[in-house]
Amino acid sequence: MTQTARDNVEMSDAATAKSPTFESIDPRTGEVVGQHPVHDATEVGALVAAAREAQSEWAELGFAERKQCLDAWRKLLSKRVDELAGVICAETGKPLDDARLELILVIDHLHWAAGNAEKVLRRRKVSAGVLMANQSATVEYLPFGVVGVIGPWNYPAFTPMGSIAYALAAGNAVVFKPSELTPGVGLWLADSFAEAVPEHPVFQLVTGFGETGAALCTSGVDKVAFTGSTATGKRVMAACAENLTPVLVECGGKDALIVDADADLGAAADAAVWGAMSNAGQTCIGVERVYVVDAVADRFLEMVTERAGKLRPGGEPSANFGPITMPSQVDVIRRHIDEALQRGGKALVGGQHSVRPPFVEPVVLTDVPEDCAAVTEETFGPTIVVQRVRDADEGVARANDSRYGLGAAVFSRARGVELARQLRTGMVSVNSVIAFAGVPALPFGGVGDSGFGRIHGADGLREFTRPQSVTRTRFRMPLNPMTFSRSKGTVRRLVRLVRLVRGR
Ligand code: NDP
Repeated sequence: MTQTARDNVEMSDAATAKSPTFESIDPRTGEVVGQHPVHDATEVGALVAAAREAQSEWAELGFAERKQCLDAWRKLLSKRVDELAGVICAETGKPLDDARLELILVIDHLHWAAGNAEKVLRRRKVSAGVLMANQSATVEYLPFGVVGVIGPWNYPAFTPMGSIAYALAAGNAVVFKPSELTPGVGLWLADSFAEAVPEHPVFQLVTGFGETGAALCTSGVDKVAFTGSTATGKRVMAACAENLTPVLVECGGKDALIVDADADLGAAADAAVWGAMSNAGQTCIGVERVYVVDAVADRFLEMVTERAGKLRPGGEPSANFGPITMPSQVDVIRRHIDEALQRGGKALVGGQHSVRPPFVEPVVLTDVPEDCAAVTEETFGPTIVVQRVRDADEGVARANDSRYGLGAAVFSRARGVELARQLRTGMVSVNSVIAFAGVPALPFGGVGDSGFGRIHGADGLREFTRPQSVTRTRFRMPLNPMTFSRSKGTVRRLVRLVRLVRGR
């Protein structure tokens, strides 16, 4: 929870007995841009109950009618991209075009989730096998019921919509708790759904601080989809353990980009700088480390230095990126830069002076000891650490030497996919960065401290369902071992059969 938001809590007027409220603030100017209720556990419980009531009808609608509803919402979002982009800018400070880009992805994912839910989740026959040949076997993927979605502020629409769109398409209701820094974006999403699909109140919003998120975890929801920091992810899991509530945990990363000797260096430098600095580096799958093969390192570093050196943060539309949205992150960024430089690292662009809250200018570091926080911990700022390696295999080994494992990128002409497959991450882009996030059919998620479970794609739809297996007896088997009236020879004959068909 940020100091700013907490400081701005207004206690309710006792006479009207309303919830206390908090303010959302434009990080570029400090201007108040909205006021939202702080929902307590009772209010969260009531909204979860309302979502539950609406859910059964939503599930009964079936895939085709749900698709119509979600398509109506998608069309409304498409028409009003600029309106929602404006809210994103006001609450995160990012440039308008970056907010628009985020919404382009939201719309495409919503289209995919609604359009593919039936194919992925509908009831289908599976082979019953030789031993159970008298059974007809089917599996279908049924909605959990109510899914609690807890989101971060850095991509306040794209990130939670990776859960919301897929959970709704699968037939669930959703109760969404946006970050305390971006409640207005959450409100806009919930209001627009209610406008497009007024007859099905299956998308409810709760706002407030961490306590509201914690209340959602223990509210009796049937699954929690959390996206945020690893530390909070652990707290969410602990809270969900109380009721054995299943969780999806999408956490931070320390993504590496590997540049092989045969890489297109211009493209690699472009991608490294964009991957590290866009959105002021506040991207879970942003590039934080680069391992470049020694033979091309000098040339690559020149290109990165030249490109990063031209970038300017600011609050105006022409700025390359905006401010650090969460004020407390500035101290983390400063600490990482300071330690790297004190321990012998070199700054090729920027340095300690680059941290000028609420903005941080681009910082390119090199030759940083591998155990520095700038190499091991998520920095979440417009900084990048470029390290030389003997060859791409050493780059892979160093990239994998991390407790995180979210995304990665490889630039190589000959060995791109081969190197990608050796990386211990949930996603890799070859000869680009972040491309996997824009492909709706691809599952998105990490390993290790980056969390587990998947949003997006068929796996992302199944994540919000419980598989139900059904067998139906078609005829009686001559050999039935599952009765007390079986003959003495039944099991022996079955052993002979299993040896015949499975023992060879
Ligand atoms: P936080 O972990 O601080 O917060 C995430 C959400 O959890 C917020 O809505 C927050 O509410 C809520 N929360 C806080 N405490 C609790 C609690 N005890 N129980 C339940 N919910 C709680 O993360 P940030 O918002 O700062 O987001 C940045 C992080 O998100 C980075 O680490 C980034 O890498 C990660 N991220 C991961 C992505 C992925 O897909 N893997 C994508 C995008 C970001 P409040 O804000 O009110 O405190």
